[in-house]
Amino acid sequence: MTASGASVRLLIVGPQGSGKGTQGVLVAQAFGVPQVATGDIFRSNVAGGTELGKRVQAIIESGDLVPDELTSELVRDRLSQPDAARGFLLDGYPRNQGQLDDLDEFLRSRGESLDAVIELIVPRDESIRRLHQRAVEQGRNDDTEEIIANRLAIYERETAPILGIYRDRGIVAEIDGVGSLDEVTARIFAALADRGILPDAPTAATA
Ligand code: ADP
Repeated sequence: MTASGASVRLLIVGPQGSGKGTQGVLVAQAFGVPQVATGDIFRSNVAGGTELGKRVQAIIESGDLVPDELTSELVRDRLSQPDAARGFLLDGYPRNQGQLDDLDEFLRSRGESLDAVIELIVPRDESIRRLHQRAVEQGRNDDTEEIIANRLAIYERETAPILGIYRDRGIVAEIDGVGSLDEVTARIFAALADRGILPDAPTAATA
C-alpha cells in the first residue's frame, strides 16, 4: 500500500538471471502486496504433484512457455483473491503479447491498470553467468545450458517486445540491474518514488 493507502499494481520484467525474483519479493513486501510469480506457482504445483503440476511439468522442464490460456486463467484466479484487492506485484507474467492482452482485459473489467513496469536491464553475458551460478547453488532442473539458451531466446523473442507496448504507455521504469543487490533495490525504490509510488512507511529496503 502507498502512503495515501491507495492501491499499487506493479510488474517486474527482466531476463532470466536478472534478479527479478529477489527484487520482486523486496518490493512487494515494502508495499504490503502479494508477489505473484507464475514460475513459482508452476514449480510448487509440480513439486506437490497437483493436476496442474502434471500438465505443466514437461513444458517447464524444456523451458518452453505454458499455454497462454492456462497461464492467464491461473493469474486471473490469483489476482481475484482478497489479498490482491489492494494491489500486487506480478513477476513472470505477462510474458508475451497474448498474455498482455489477457491481463489488459482482466484489469479493464475491474477498472484497474498497471501503475508501473520495473524493467531490470542486465546484459546477456551477465545473465548467463548468474544462471550458471544458480544452477550450481539451487540445482533447478531448468538451469542446464541448453534449456537456459531456450528460455533466453524466448525472452528476447516474445517478452522483450511487450516492453515496447508498456513504454508507449509511459509506465516503464528502466533499472540498471548490474550492481549489488542493495544497489539495485535502491534504484528501484528511487525510480518508483520519482513516479509518486511510495511505500507506506520506510522499511529496511528504503531506509
Ligand atoms: P525464468 O524467468 O528464470 O525462466 P520462471 O520461474 O519465471 O523462471 O519460469 C519458469 C518456467 O515457468 C518458464 O520457463 C515457463 O515454462 C513457465 N512460466 C512461468 N511464467 C510463465 C508465463 N507467464 N507463461 C508461460 N509459461 C510461464
